[in-house]
Amino acid sequence: MTKYTEYEFRTQPWFDESWFAPDSTSRFSQFIPMKTIVIHCFDPRASEIPQAVADYLGDEVYPGENILDEAGNRVGNTRTLFAVSNAGGRAVGALQSVATMDYLFRVQNVVVVHHSFCGATAFTPDTLIGEFHDHHHAEIGEIFDHDSLAIGHFEDSIRHDVKLLRESNAVPKNVKLYGFFYEINSGKLTEVVRDVPASGASQ
Ligand SMILES: [Zn+2]
Repeated sequence: MTKYTEYEFRTQPWFDESWFAPDSTSRFSQFIPMKTIVIHCFDPRASEIPQAVADYLGDEVYPGENILDEAGNRVGNTRTLFAVSNAGGRAVGALQSVATMDYLFRVQNVVVVHHSFCGATAFTPDTLIGEFHDHHHAEIGEIFDHDSLAIGHFEDSIRHDVKLLRESNAVPKNVKLYGFFYEINSGKLTEVVRDVPASGASQ
């Protein structure tokens, strides 16, 4: 029950919850300067997407390196761009990560990337739901956002995901959103949609 508690921040003698809180100078975030989340497909042929996005945006550090203290403990990392991968690189599968990372770091940018010859372009949402039902006798149609289950048309899927992020309570309203198409053979990244809120008090 308590086997691994010594590895938790909350059990450290010096622990102070405010040290991790996003505001009040947010000291934890000084050791990991995360600002951008990239959502992409876990297809291994698309594994260069985070680097391609970092190069495109500029002013990002990826992959970065660990920062060690005198004892060799990993107390930080220089990376600014974090990747979330899932089937198809869909926004719906990354909402928990966006909300969680905003607590620790204050997320500034969220980028969705869909890629050429993605497996998610090989079926429709209803094909997936129907086959799953026939094969496993289980209903998944009501668990997920229907249009997030497959990619029928790239521009539509990228715009759908940026819209889903913009309308989600899990994504702070000041966050800048980008949608890209990535061609896996050439490595070319093309910006399809950009949704940058007018800069307000929270910027
Ligand atoms: Zn894919």
